[in-house]
Amino acid sequence: MRATCAVARKVIAMSPLFAALASAGAGGGCRSLEPPRRADLIITNAGVWTADPSQPKAEAIAVAGDCIVAVGTAAIVDAWRTPDTRVIDVRGRTVIPGFNDAHIHLMDGGRQLDDLDLKDAATAEEFARRIGERAAATPKGEWVLGGNWDEQGWTAPLLPTRSLIDKVTGDTPVFLGRYDLHMALANTAALRLAGVTAATPAPAGGEVVRDARGEPTGILKDAAMGLVSRIIPAPTRERRVRALKRALDHMASLGVTSVQDMGPAAEDVELYDELAAKGGLTVRIRVAPLLTSWAAARATGGLKPPSGPVVRSGAVKAFADGSLGSTTAFFFAPYTDAPGQFGLLADEMQPIDGMRSRLMEADKAGQQFCIHAIGDRANAMVLDLVGEVAAANGARDRRPRIEHAQHIAPSDIGRFARLGVIASVQPYHAIDDGRWAEKRIGPERAKTTYPFRSFLDAGVRLAIGTDWPVAPLSPMAGVYAAVTRATLDGKRPDGWIPEQKISVAEALQGYTLGAAYAEYTEGEKGSVTVGRLADLVVLSDDPFVAPPSSLRDIIVETTIVGGKVVYEK
Ligand SMILES: [Zn+2]
Repeated sequence: MRATCAVARKVIAMSPLFAALASAGAGGGCRSLEPPRRADLIITNAGVWTADPSQPKAEAIAVAGDCIVAVGTAAIVDAWRTPDTRVIDVRGRTVIPGFNDAHIHLMDGGRQLDDLDLKDAATAEEFARRIGERAAATPKGEWVLGGNWDEQGWTAPLLPTRSLIDKVTGDTPVFLGRYDLHMALANTAALRLAGVTAATPAPAGGEVVRDARGEPTGILKDAAMGLVSRIIPAPTRERRVRALKRALDHMASLGVTSVQDMGPAAEDVELYDELAAKGGLTVRIRVAPLLTSWAAARATGGLKPPSGPVVRSGAVKAFADGSLGSTTAFFFAPYTDAPGQFGLLADEMQPIDGMRSRLMEADKAGQQFCIHAIGDRANAMVLDLVGEVAAANGARDRRPRIEHAQHIAPSDIGRFARLGVIASVQPYHAIDDGRWAEKRIGPERAKTTYPFRSFLDAGVRLAIGTDWPVAPLSPMAGVYAAVTRATLDGKRPDGWIPEQKISVAEALQGYTLGAAYAEYTEGEKGSVTVGRLADLVVLSDDPFVAPPSSLRDIIVETTIVGGKVVYEK
């Protein structure tokens, strides 16, 4: 969409100064810029970091409807005040544009929040009691799912059994994974639905744990988990709505006002659209469905893109390789700790001609690419493909993205810049992987791993995100990671590959304007600029003066989306 800004255009016609301000940012942003100087909301006494180079700092912001109408000194902004204006005095706090997470898995995150989390169940009794409470609150026909349990902290660290939970769960099927995801506990109702009995053989690569009489205890290991997991019904609509709402609350509490949802299911996109139509979405969502499903839907005439101003499409997600953790990221040279192994190309890259032709088709249809590539060779191959598509289909503003862009051959960093490829990165992964990645790839390749500094120095645009729920959603945790590169185990407090650190301003830029650019919306949001959407965040502390080690402790006090306060601490 181009958000309508009809009234704003009238104002622009009236005031040359205002015209200059508003036109500074290409597209139009917001809807309700009324000609009279009347603000619905004023944020004052603030240290505003605008992400707008033409006016990097300000004291106050005026908002009319969903639109920023004035940015500047308290006196300038005060001219927009009326008796009806809500004034928020933030007492010197820092205000920044709302965070835009450039790579999340929205419904997976929401489901994880909605599922039962037993990580801190301290005893077998508490474990059983909490499962019983959840079963009692679960609508008939739904399963109790989740898990994340760990029996090792219990007084008697024995694996739980179905008999421990059967009496509190009754007919409600329960299937709960251990925290390591290598085993799960099913209750009797779940085993019955799955047809698992004493006579059921364990599948290859799995184990059905049995008691002295040969009856399954409910614990299923590795491949045996599939005996039950494959019959779990798709989540009901009620459950999906619940998960989405949990996700929305979580995002609002962390100052996330826009997200870019990678690989959502078609029915989830419909759900976003429905909620948006009712005005119930407190985050702006850009969806990037899988390229393979996009191509299939297009072939059968089944494409149904969302079209509202809050949920948007226009991008497709594809995969070039796997992950470093599972040694499936695809490299030029073998893994240091697994001689002879180079990793694996994703299915959709085999054969490469298939990938190329799907990309050519999507590009001709105006779609933007978001291609997952982790290993250096996978990244190089995607750069090749992007170059081939551009050469074949001609110049346009295509803004191709590589998702993760994790391990980059030094000679390819400049290619990102030359091809205009956006590096869509998740700094938190760097401080997580940094604990062990060097063993896997060796010191030389580590130098251009998560190479945020090298990207920026080469003129590559960064879009920052989290990959939630793979990593925590908190943007300030991501800023902390990008700025400190201090690994999660505390062993490298001065940073893993410290040469690749970036500044607080650069990290915030990647999380706001950079992420907006990566979804073609930098003319509408991502900076505190007159004429842009009023998506704003008030932080508890100033990240520019806080010690880097405490950046992750900065919390969001207020979140504003389109001029509406959607979260207040
Ligand atoms: Zn992801």
